Amino acid sequence: MSLRRGHKLSFDYNVLVIDPSTQQPIGACDHQQSFERYVVDFNDFRTLHYAGNTALQMRAPINGQAMVRVWISGEEVFSNDPTYGWSISVDPNRVDAVNSEDVFYQIRFNLPVRLVVPLIEVSYLTTRGYCLKCSALGVLNDFKNAASGGFVQITQQSKLAQKGLKWILTSQCAFYPTFVCPLKSYIGKKLGIQLTDADIQNAVTTALTTMQQVQQAQATIPQQMMDPLEMIKDIKYVTAEIDPSDPTTIQVAAEITTFSGTSVPLSFQMMVN
Ligand SMILES: [Zn+2]
Repeated sequence: MSLRRGHKLSFDYNVLVIDPSTQQPIGACDHQQSFERYVVDFNDFRTLHYAGNTALQMRAPINGQAMVRVWISGEEVFSNDPTYGWSISVDPNRVDAVNSEDVFYQIRFNLPVRLVVPLIEVSYLTTRGYCLKCSALGVLNDFKNAASGGFVQITQQSKLAQKGLKWILTSQCAFYPTFVCPLKSYIGKKLGIQLTDADIQNAVTTALTTMQQVQQAQATIPQQMMDPLEMIKDIKYVTAEIDPSDPTTIQVAAEITTFSGTSVPLSFQMMVN
């Protein structure tokens, strides 16, 4: 999404996970699990089980019992409700924790709830390793919210970083196959057999070079004048290295410079087999 304002300045909504100028993560996840579905135990009519796998009680550890909220058929029920009140206790049977310090809890109604297939939903905060919202990444690659309530807009180097990552990570075009970056099709391939780290490096270099050529062609058209901070001048380097602690993770890093002389670092991880 972009809009041209005046002659040169344009913006895009920010979906970056890493701030290109500080290399710090942005958009940290609160690990909030919203309206996860639960069913009540067949036998005791009190204990909740995760609807997606009824062998479990809670799907994930609860991080902060005060933040747990429960709904029955769309209506919130508080823990002190005379009919549908509930409490949280440690789940003694759970043994599949990601980390040994993870503690699982169970939610139980104080009195049996004998509703016919009631829709029970639970919202709570969990820990990063169990978060379905950020898939345990810790950050969200979603539109970033501004304090004003809208979405954060980005311009200049940050926009160039976002555009570069989009070009590398998501590009596909049935009509201009030369503009396509094959990187997405590499995910999950067998490293060393179907794919090498040099292939990844080449794909990223080619994608950035193509993007640079398209920008240079655009720059010759007066109506498509771009901010010099949104244009690739040089591709300084592209590296793809196997993570020393995890042979299925490739760390990809690149640095491009803008026509204003500033540098824009790009980096991401990809998973192979
Ligand atoms: Zn999360």
